[in-house]
Amino acid sequence: MSQSDHRRGVAAGSLATFTRRLASPCLPTPLHRLEVSPSATGLGRVWVKRDDLTGPAGGGNKARKLWYLCGDAVGVGADAIVTVGAAQSNHCRMTAAVAVPSGLDVHLVLAGDRPPRLEGNQRLAELLGAQLHFTGTDDRHWGELAVEADAIVEQLASDGLTPYLIPVGGSTPVGALGYVEAFDELMLQCNELGLSPAAIVTTSSSGGTHAGLLAGRAAWRAAGHRVPDVVAIGVAKGVIGGMPDVAELANATLATAGLDGHVGDDDVEIDDRWLGDDYGRPTAAADKAIRLAATRFGIVLDRTYTGKGFAGLVGNLNDGRWDGDDPVIFIHTGGVPSIFTTDGVPPAV
Ligand SMILES: *Cc1c(COP(=O)(O)O)cnc(C)c1O
Repeated sequence: MSQSDHRRGVAAGSLATFTRRLASPCLPTPLHRLEVSPSATGLGRVWVKRDDLTGPAGGGNKARKLWYLCGDAVGVGADAIVTVGAAQSNHCRMTAAVAVPSGLDVHLVLAGDRPPRLEGNQRLAELLGAQLHFTGTDDRHWGELAVEADAIVEQLASDGLTPYLIPVGGSTPVGALGYVEAFDELMLQCNELGLSPAAIVTTSSSGGTHAGLLAGRAAWRAAGHRVPDVVAIGVAKGVIGGMPDVAELANATLATAGLDGHVGDDDVEIDDRWLGDDYGRPTAAADKAIRLAATRFGIVLDRTYTGKGFAGLVGNLNDGRWDGDDPVIFIHTGGVPSIFTTDGVPPAV
């Protein structure tokens, strides 16, 4: 790699010109080997990128997107954010954490009914100063949430405010810039540690994290570097069924950043074997992975996202998906607060 890439990454120059971004004091997140002491789990190749430690209010991948999205909102003169999510949405909790301190009103449109006592992410979102709107709809019907969000946007506008709508998961080209930055950050860490990873594995539901990583990877490839595979473990039917078109989103992200590179359909790999019955429905494999990560590594995963993602990583390793012993990096995308809900922890085995 060239001298300047080594110091500051391939995308850093372009991203620095994208001034609509809030400060993010907790970056870079740590990259460390999963097995801190040898415990013969067969996972000696695995490294973890700790995006559960991005900072605000419990951490997670959404922070990286929201630093760009909320920065953009402030930049265009918005004074309120409207966004949507599942009942236990990490994205909504983190929108509150990033946007309220920036002086923005935050309206969260959530699936389900208001419970007698708020739990997990909902409890944090309210503490963080968001207004919660419960729609009574199913967690899996994101379209119905969008209809309600549009109504709130109209209401706010007729009240004289300037609302900024963030779609589910913040998976727009602006939001995905956060994972272009993360790819840069990760490659620099690998270079410093002398690692040449075979793959990066991440959990995917609205596709923005995956698209941002692919955009970052395409920029590095265009600059002449060898790049690892990026494998997404799909945990929602939408992303498995091709919504959004991840390659299209990745290419729009490259265009937004002003970066060279192209993401083709064959760069997009979504492993659909770990979803189980549906989004948010626990699986035995994920529950087992959660217990393993907790008891062997002291790492907390969740049942909707990272438990399934980690089960997918372990499954692919066991299948012999990657030859040799080059590192495989798991991006821990967060989700820890959902543990603090009634069904948040897998039953003891
Ligand atoms: C939202 C989320 C994901 C998936 O990220 P997308 O960019 O929406 O695909 C993964 N893990 C956790 C914990 C999340 O909250």
